[in-house]
Amino acid sequence: MFRCPFCYKTTATFYGLVIHVETHIKYGRCPVCDEEVRNIKHHVRAKARQGGRGHKVLYGLLVRARSYCIGDFKKECRDLAYKACEVRSDGYTSS
Ligand SMILES: [Zn+2]
Ligand SMILES: [Zn+2]
Repeated sequence: MFRCPFCYKTTATFYGLVIHVETHIKYGRCPVCDEEVRNIKHHVRAKARQGGRGHKVLYGLLVRARSYCIGDFKKECRDLAYKACEVRSDGYTSS
């Protein structure tokens, strides 16, 4: 299970979360720094490259390509996003 870092919605798969996160950027406001930006994808990539963790996670969530055909930086961000959003159910079973 994965949890959205911006609204705590949960999805069954990482890809489901990728689809969901698009809803946070479609109004031209960055969900990480709450700034209105003209080109959200450009903004997120630039900020992620400056090293901000929140933007790296968001950038990782915006990467659509499969891991074998994306660059090292995208892969790093996607791995970070995967780990940051993954919810482990260990210890929460009712049995
Ligand atoms: Zn969300
Ligand atoms: Zn931002």
